[in-house]
Amino acid sequence: MHKTLVLIKPDAMQRGLAGKIITRFEEKGLKLVGAKLMQLDDDLLSRHYAHLADKPFFGEIRDFMKSSPVLAMCWYGLDSVATVRRICGITLAREANPGTIRGDFGMSIQCNLVHASEDEENAEKELALFFKDGEIFDYPVKLYTSLYSEREQGDLK
Ligand code: ADP
Repeated sequence: MHKTLVLIKPDAMQRGLAGKIITRFEEKGLKLVGAKLMQLDDDLLSRHYAHLADKPFFGEIRDFMKSSPVLAMCWYGLDSVATVRRICGITLAREANPGTIRGDFGMSIQCNLVHASEDEENAEKELALFFKDGEIFDYPVKLYTSLYSEREQGDLK
């Protein structure tokens, strides 16, 4: 599928870091194919974070994610799910590697700036949850001849 969901979380929105975060993905060579500002609600968050429903911090993460709008984005590229996760860094931001978004900009386990889909299966489910038909775009990027080998360009199709 080569597409993945990224959310710029309320802490990053409040700190004015959306532009810097987007630049990380753009400069890597990923293509932005969907983007919208969203005020999340309990229903969507309960579905998105269903795997955390039993955790003691579930209420906290749900309230945090509603504390201001988030920027929901779909990024496209070869193996984009794993690539984007590496760019984001590990959950506990203060221990994330320098060079990653969380490692460079965060200290918290909750306020860790971004969400990125964990694997291909989750990416597909999450994109369907956050984007309606027609909100994810397909457009040619001429840069691809410099960004990927011919074989890799074939793999992207
Ligand atoms: P990730 O976002 O790295 O995939 P998880 O899916 O495990 O991590 O958790 C989702 C989000 O819940 C995290 O990004 C973080 O914002 C929050 N979270 C995770 N663990 C904790 C915790 N122990 N205390 C508070 N918030 C947490």
